[in-house]
Amino acid sequence: MATSSPSRHDAPGRPFYDYVIVGAGMFGATFARLATDAGHRCLVLDRRPHIAGNCYTETVEGITVHRYGAHIFHTSDEWIWSFVNRYVRFNNFVNAPMALAGGRLYSLPFSMLTFNQLWGVTRPDEAMAIIERQRLKLDREPANLEEQALSLVGTDIYRLLIEGYTRKQWMRDPRDLPAWIIKRLPLRFTFNNNYFADRYQGIPDGGYTALFERLLDGVEVRLGTDFFGDRDGFAALGRTLVFTGRIDEYFGYRHGELEYRTLRFDTRVLDTANFQGNAVVNHCDAAVPSTRTIEHKHFAFGQQPVTVVTDEFPETWTRDATPYYPINDPENTRRFRLYEAQGRATEGVIFGGRLAEYRYYDMHQVIGSARIAFERHSRADGGFDL
Ligand code: FAD
Ligand code: UDP
Repeated sequence: MATSSPSRHDAPGRPFYDYVIVGAGMFGATFARLATDAGHRCLVLDRRPHIAGNCYTETVEGITVHRYGAHIFHTSDEWIWSFVNRYVRFNNFVNAPMALAGGRLYSLPFSMLTFNQLWGVTRPDEAMAIIERQRLKLDREPANLEEQALSLVGTDIYRLLIEGYTRKQWMRDPRDLPAWIIKRLPLRFTFNNNYFADRYQGIPDGGYTALFERLLDGVEVRLGTDFFGDRDGFAALGRTLVFTGRIDEYFGYRHGELEYRTLRFDTRVLDTANFQGNAVVNHCDAAVPSTRTIEHKHFAFGQQPVTVVTDEFPETWTRDATPYYPINDPENTRRFRLYEAQGRATEGVIFGGRLAEYRYYDMHQVIGSARIAFERHSRADGGFDL
């Protein structure tokens, strides 16, 4: 990170930067890299004291710690995979979480391993027959998460591994959540326990912060700086503003507040080499307050004598809490559409990322979205395609 070279906008009274980018997370850092490589001058602001947004990692006892929860990179998109590999090497970690329910461990995602642990079945046709007997049969599309889960996997799996976890995680009844959330989880009748179905997967060597340091190489970054501390002043510094914070906050909450899911992370160093034997263990019982425990060293096959674990707890949302997940229920979606329309009508501002687009994006999707936003803007600006 540094101050960049002279720009074509240095004339007095003209904006100093081509882009002022609010947020040093995945959207902001990707946009800044693409714009800088295309010869534009960027300023990146973040109110946090560090870069990398929710992907931020730090080293504790020689272990790379994912400060804001487990982050596993996965994509099937060739451009996105080669883009991130320009800056960092990825290890060959494959996510295979375990789910703890009623004192027993079950393999995730739902696969022949899970069906064997649950029902003792050894062949796909036996598992399919059980699920078929239990499945909710609808003559219409599932209207919510509960209906979707019951029609996909039946009652045993829903009651044991989904209902309590989902209710706890979202602090909502699964009947009040959209059906697509559960479709993120693969359902397989093979012994493949890879949580993702993408072609490429891994964790950056040295952690995500190393990736962001390279994405922001040569870009001026001001940390601990809230855009709203001087919004007119910061906006005037650039020709175009790229905003990756909360879109409802940007517009002064005038259409009502958008709700997000927020979390608390409780991180501890333990004097043991191996605490739970896996990077991610989900807690599916409603009575257990945390949703998952992650043991960071297993993301990088660490051999340190101690270990670092983080318990993740859902917390009640308030306006001042850290927003992590958009809640795309009908009322929030209705409000977001109003903000989105207003965003489209606002000249000189690009809204992007999980918070400004109010979408349950994974990291690779945010990179894809930033690329499209940059290409579209530079085309409109007489620039070039990547
Ligand atoms: P953010 O990372 O939120 O960055 C936005 C930045 O803007 C923040 O740093 C914020 O401080 C800054 N900002 C906001 N407002 C202002 C302001 N007014 N002034 C200055 N700065 C401001 N994705 C995966 O692909 N794989 C995973 O395994 C995965 N696991 C996840 C686990 C958890 C617990 C969470 C919460 C997310 C996970 N994700 C995962 C999603 C991933 O974190 C997001 O897709 C990605 O980080 C979003 O990037 P972003 O730039 O949109 O937002
Ligand atoms: N889910 C569940 N039990 C689990 C894991 C996931 O019921 O053990 C459901 C839950 O509703 C969750 C959704 O599947 O919101 C998507 O899970 P994912 O792991 O993708 O959630 P994330 O990692 O984004 O929090």
